[in-house]
Amino acid sequence: MMQPTPITIAHGDGIGPEIMSVAIRLLNEAGARLAIEEIQVGESLYKQGFSSGIKPEAWESLRRTKVFLKSPITTPQGGGVKSLNVTIRKTLGLYANIRPCISYHPFIATKHPKMDVVIIRENEEDLYAGIEHRQTDEVYQCLKLITRPGCEKIIRYAFEYVMHRGRKKLTCFTKDNIMKLTDGLFHQVFDEIAKEYPKVQTEHLIIDIGMARIADSPERFDVIVLPNLYGDIMSDVAAEISGSVGIAPSANIGDHIAMFEAIHGSAPDIAGKNVANPSGLILSAVKMLAHIGQGDVAARVHNAWLKTIEEGVHTADMFSDKSRKKVGTTEFGDAVAKNLGKSPDTLKPAIYASDPTPTIHYTPRPPEKKELVGIDVFLHWRGDPDALGAAMEKFNSEQLSLKMITNRGVKVYPDGFPETFCTDHWRCRFMTDGDTISHNDALRLLGNLALAQFDFIKTEHLYNFNGKAGFSLGQGQ
Ligand code: NAD
Repeated sequence: MMQPTPITIAHGDGIGPEIMSVAIRLLNEAGARLAIEEIQVGESLYKQGFSSGIKPEAWESLRRTKVFLKSPITTPQGGGVKSLNVTIRKTLGLYANIRPCISYHPFIATKHPKMDVVIIRENEEDLYAGIEHRQTDEVYQCLKLITRPGCEKIIRYAFEYVMHRGRKKLTCFTKDNIMKLTDGLFHQVFDEIAKEYPKVQTEHLIIDIGMARIADSPERFDVIVLPNLYGDIMSDVAAEISGSVGIAPSANIGDHIAMFEAIHGSAPDIAGKNVANPSGLILSAVKMLAHIGQGDVAARVHNAWLKTIEEGVHTADMFSDKSRKKVGTTEFGDAVAKNLGKSPDTLKPAIYASDPTPTIHYTPRPPEKKELVGIDVFLHWRGDPDALGAAMEKFNSEQLSLKMITNRGVKVYPDGFPETFCTDHWRCRFMTDGDTISHNDALRLLGNLALAQFDFIKTEHLYNFNGKAGFSLGQGQ
């Protein structure tokens, strides 16, 4: 007899406990060999003052079992707390978020009968670094961080996924026409790695038209790889148009640990009413079983679920004129349990041979020649751009001179337009006319600004890497 596999589960908030009890029941009845550890996460812990919604002991369970089946939790609005989901993904290095969005035509109503898309979302960086600051009376900032290791890992994972799952095409989405350095890096790494996988058909689309196309004709896509925020939004759109946001599962994969959860949230509007669709969590549990090498049980549960969908036994969110019987959460669980051992007649039966997680290695590149050529000084200041320009010109030195001032990224000095709306947040770009500068040159400038009582609220150094500018131009520069 095979040893049971230890896993950690959390019942979550809102509809979480209702859908988790259905999922666990099905795993048990299907013969899953599991040793389950339970941890508490979410709202109750936030209320007890744990700002990330998790207790220190819970991390020990996750690091011991390395497999986490999680119900959705409620993230309190407002300051003072961090999202548990984002904390878990980043702390445990779960860099890949895989979200299959499939339509179940003709059984679940959808405008897209041929949809079968897998969204592979970068899971650790981008705006989800969660580094935000209020800098002036009027301006707030969120840092968007995109790294080469982050891009290489997720993009290589996506190519490996296409190769090993019998898929054909990989589409990358970015907004690199605007964010040329950050999204530009994601696109560039996609093009670089694509050369190593000549059998995979590739394309790149700008995210706005890409989002429109997936909403209109998802059947033209196969596997999609994209940065964190776009992936978050796109996967909800894709799941919803496939039939219901309540169906789509997700796997969060890292080198050491994996977490499985539905893509939907804790749905407080329907919590405790026995109407929630447990399918997203059931199918996430199926992915978990495949991941831990229990593909036989995964197929048993998945096929029973497909059979139930074919029978037209649907929760309210899936219910349409194509359905036969509207059921609640537990009754849906009863129907799937009754179908364990059966296979669908029309829908393609699920088979799980093995589900290897590719090990993605990142090899750091040799450092490039990095030269400091200027500094952007951000000021909290109120007034007219020309007045600020005249004041800043006085700080020009042998090493550094004012090149421009922007407000919200638009050049307003010299030669700004009176029509440009300005806030109290100004970026003054000082650059060297010749060589490189030192940190001391930058400090001298800041010291002089401080003496003159200019309120600099942050600085960014301007570097060239191997002679190429590592900073963007101002709009209109
Ligand atoms: P949501 O996904 O919880 O709900 C959106 C809509 O979809 C609601 O009308 C809801 O009733 C419906 N819905 C969601 N899941 C359903 C299901 N299984 N069956 C039937 N209908 C379902 O999104 P929200 O309302 O924006 O967020 C609610 C809370 O969930 C927030 O606190 C949010 O932070 C949290 N959240 C958690 C996770 C997670 O834990 N992974 C993910 C997303 C949102």
